[in-house]
Amino acid sequence: MERLVYINGKFFPRSQATISVFDHGLLYGDGVFEGIRAYSGKVFRLREHLERLYRSAQVVSLEIPTTLEDMQESVLECLRVNDLSDAYIRLIVTRGIGDLGLDPRKCHGGPTTIIIADAIELYPPELYENGLEIITVTTRRNLPSALSPAVKSLNYLNNILAKMEVNRAGLHEGLMLNHEGYVAEATGDNIFFSDGTDLVTPPSSVGILVGITRGVVMEIAAETGTAVREERFLLPDIYTARECFLTGTAAEIIPVVSVDGRVIGDGKPGKLTRELMARFRQRTLEEGAPIRP
Ligand code: PMP
Repeated sequence: MERLVYINGKFFPRSQATISVFDHGLLYGDGVFEGIRAYSGKVFRLREHLERLYRSAQVVSLEIPTTLEDMQESVLECLRVNDLSDAYIRLIVTRGIGDLGLDPRKCHGGPTTIIIADAIELYPPELYENGLEIITVTTRRNLPSALSPAVKSLNYLNNILAKMEVNRAGLHEGLMLNHEGYVAEATGDNIFFSDGTDLVTPPSSVGILVGITRGVVMEIAAETGTAVREERFLLPDIYTARECFLTGTAAEIIPVVSVDGRVIGDGKPGKLTRELMARFRQRTLEEGAPIRP
């Protein structure tokens, strides 16, 4: 069966799920989005993702025409009509259809809401067993005072330019620094390192997307008695870390074993990282919004 895509309250077969070329999501990247996952019939941290979507929209003065509760129901419905229990969900709200000028007041018909649910594309399992080698890219993370990385907007060129550097190096992920040279995040994931005692991760003030997975890792760390410090740090702190990993909805928790050619710890995924990965996996199976109540 061809998968169905939700657009503004209706479901369309994927091949017919199209929007206008005058949509400002396309013309200007004017819109917001979320990447969400469902595990074993439950949507993980759905409420948090929706709250972040509405916060992103609020920052860019985009009024989402549905309540958070109705949006939650539409996400669940999209999974039901596609008969999915383990899935990746892309939720998008654009400014809607306007003219060729950038003025959002010209977008008359209201925002365009799109929900796409699909099977998850995972990194190969070897990467979770052996860990990633990453590099620092030259593309700096967007200046928070210009376009805050905390807004998950459709304007992802900053991350795409960084990702192309990663691709050219033949790797899977890269580290982005902020305008002052502090470590910010990976192109699509947050970063943590262990100094042997505590976990350290950049604070939101560095200019990062405050990841939902990052938050879950902080909760799990507390359970294991590991302190997490949200602290600005520079590359040498990562080069001398005992363990390092990235977090994101798609990647979950993925170990990092080398950064810019410096081997982290003993070059294998660390003990704490592996414990967090196991506990995270457990949580994804235990909690979440049920797709079929
Ligand atoms: N940073 C960026 C730039 C991202 O795109 C993502 C993935 N959405 C993350 C961090 C991780 O966020 P989350 O854990 O909410 O998926």
